[in-house]
Amino acid sequence: GFTCGIVGLPNVGKSTLFNALTETVAAAAANYPFCTIEPNTGRVPVPDKRLDIVAGLAKSAKTIPTQIEIRDIAGLVRGASKGEGLGNQFLAAIRETDAILHVLRCFENDDITHVEGNVDPLRDAELIETELLLADIESLARQRDGLAKRAKAQDKEAKARLDLLDRVLPQMEDGTSARRLALSSDECALLSGLHLLTAKPVLYVCNVDEDAAASGNIWTERVAAMAANEGSRHVVISAEIEAQLAQLGKGERDEFLQTLDLDEPGLNRVIREGYSLLGLLTFITVGPKEARAWTVEQGATAPEAAGVIHTDFQKGFIAAEIVAYDDFVRLGGEQGAKEAGRMRLEGRDYVMKDGDICHFRFNV
Ligand code: GDP
Repeated sequence: GFTCGIVGLPNVGKSTLFNALTETVAAAAANYPFCTIEPNTGRVPVPDKRLDIVAGLAKSAKTIPTQIEIRDIAGLVRGASKGEGLGNQFLAAIRETDAILHVLRCFENDDITHVEGNVDPLRDAELIETELLLADIESLARQRDGLAKRAKAQDKEAKARLDLLDRVLPQMEDGTSARRLALSSDECALLSGLHLLTAKPVLYVCNVDEDAAASGNIWTERVAAMAANEGSRHVVISAEIEAQLAQLGKGERDEFLQTLDLDEPGLNRVIREGYSLLGLLTFITVGPKEARAWTVEQGATAPEAAGVIHTDFQKGFIAAEIVAYDDFVRLGGEQGAKEAGRMRLEGRDYVMKDGDICHFRFNV
């Protein structure tokens, strides 16, 4: 699976957000095969209006959204990279994730202790980032000897990685996160082999009070500027509101959203942004029984997509019949697309596009 890890200082709203995410799932559990995998890990359906539209046109009996995994990684504090507060365990947990949802406290409340004394999301973000960066610098130092040995033994990849390491380490020691280094795509590929925490894509999640859920506040504006400056994205949500929304039925929820001036739960944005952070795309299979969304990494080929559904589909892959989502909708479904010549037969080299509606042909 593809995993987003929720990180942030204590008392910023991580577990409130995580619970809201997984309660939404629990609410949907009657229909979907989703579950909480472990106490701190859950699978979350990815909201996608396209799936409902496709199901409507094809008169499918049900829809099955695709899902991502969300993990609550509590316990990061100042000094984590030196082992403070079980720091090493938390850093190891972050290493296993594919992307980071960094929750920042953008609400004031005297009853809820702020571990750093006062609300200041930019300082908090930098504090966490510094811990991750220190852990990366240490990890690079540890990896260097091994790489140097292998480079000496004529291992070309190790040599290339060692050269890159020696170039980026000083920049990182000066405070530049790995994701902010100016690198070519080849260098990025080499870097990914170094498993750095600060190379992971980040979504900043600004947790605000109810009154700022629609408009944001002075803190979220500062986070927005910081995120834009480093090429990251941010969302504004109120974790408490989301937790309340997660408890409501659809009718009540829509009413509550209206009073808050919101079109949809903020969680939807968090999940969608998380999904795009992971570099994924969605393809759809559709029939009378169900319309279902599936996930592959951007750049995946048609046989790889088939393999997500079943390994036999990949092994015996012959071809894929594909209709682009826009054609499917414009031409009123599969039959219309076929008649208009918009159903394409694609082979093994076809690179999947977001929204492709597919039938796979395969040998068994
Ligand atoms: P964590 O330590 O980051 O997991 O933080 P929690 O989710 O446990 O939240 C810490 C406290 O802040 C709890 O009492 C929450 O109810 C409260 N809290 C979380 N989000 C909000 C929010 O948006 N507004 C306010 N006022 N309180 C919040």
